[in-house]
Amino acid sequence: MSQTQITQTATEAAYDTYVLRNYGRPAITLARGEGCRVWDDSGKRYLDFASGIAVNAVGHGHPRWVKAVSEQAATLAHVSNLYRNPLQGELAKRLVQHAGPGRVFFCNSGAEANEGLLKLARLHGIRKSGEEGKCFKVICAKSAFHGRTFGGMSATPQEKIQKGFRPLVSGFAFGELNNLASFEALIDDSTAAIFVETIQGEGGVNPATTEFLLGLRALCNKHNLLLMLDEVQCGVGRTGRFFAFEHAGVRPDAIGMAKGLGGGFPIGAIWIGEGAADLFQPGMHGTTFGGTPLACAAALATLDIIRDEQLCEHILRVSPGWHAALAKLATEFPAQLTGVRGLGFMVGLQLTGDPAPYIAALREAGMLCPLAGGNVIRLLPPLVASEAELAESVDILRKVFAAKAAA
Ligand SMILES: *Cc1c(COP(=O)(O)O)cnc(C)c1O
Repeated sequence: MSQTQITQTATEAAYDTYVLRNYGRPAITLARGEGCRVWDDSGKRYLDFASGIAVNAVGHGHPRWVKAVSEQAATLAHVSNLYRNPLQGELAKRLVQHAGPGRVFFCNSGAEANEGLLKLARLHGIRKSGEEGKCFKVICAKSAFHGRTFGGMSATPQEKIQKGFRPLVSGFAFGELNNLASFEALIDDSTAAIFVETIQGEGGVNPATTEFLLGLRALCNKHNLLLMLDEVQCGVGRTGRFFAFEHAGVRPDAIGMAKGLGGGFPIGAIWIGEGAADLFQPGMHGTTFGGTPLACAAALATLDIIRDEQLCEHILRVSPGWHAALAKLATEFPAQLTGVRGLGFMVGLQLTGDPAPYIAALREAGMLCPLAGGNVIRLLPPLVASEAELAESVDILRKVFAAKAAA
């Protein structure tokens, strides 16, 4: 038995014995990455269109990102939020430049960002009603996904997410995405905020329409509600605009970010517009790790690369051709693939059946991508993916659809 085989067995055994069984993982171990490629420990190469679930925005091992993270690790990794550090203010300024006048709080994940937004909604409800416990309802969308914390789960009305963990946090109601009347009907005196993903990710890559988002903005203005957008998956350049809501020209009151922000290093953030930023006063919220110098260095490098390599412009330029090639697949294999949805580098392929065997076949054929709810395959390339790599993804998909058609 070779050394590699022994190591593989040890990795598998360690997972089997010691790692919590909350994920059903395929039998591969990823060992190395470069650009849009990852290699498993047997040396097999994959086109990585999972991007660690929309996280590896600048690809794997981008030299500028690696340099920034390595140097910061050697300089100052962590000090907590009891003290200032040289990078957090700069990163906040950069996000304010994208989002508009306001303030930023840093945390470590998407779920944590959303917890911050849900706490903000409670504070706004107190401002609105004059007392605690009277105005706290948050209206979210059916088929939403906002994370696995109690607040996030409570905002995520999926049986597969909530089952086993009730009672959940009270004060949530759910309308139909892109059905403004269904949201309006849920508004009453106890309502504090509306909270939706600009493009639903886990729910099946379902974009909120421009008309819907502008309609929510108008409802929020009319009823004094906060419009809070979850851009954890669709934000930070993925759709070809820094925030996905920019396509609609809508202005939210608060934004949740995470995934792509650190380019592979864990960081989350909330931006709160100036009308609500002062609702958080000293002592009302906090985190030990959030906005640590190392995470901020990773995020600043990611934002620098997105800006200097003009990745949003790149995405706007190359995605129409890619989407068209994917749509052509739907005409070639209508019994398997019925539609292509999404914006920029956040794409959902609507299958007629269970996506799991397709995800496995694509992996066999050399491409990684995640599935989503409602029989959808998600394609989430790194923002640096080239036209050739996009074309390769179409070739691999065609091969897999053709093999299934022949089977
Ligand atoms: C992934 C995701 C979350 C949760 O983020 P974590 O970092 O896994 O906690 C929340 N909202 C959306 C839209 C997501 O895609």
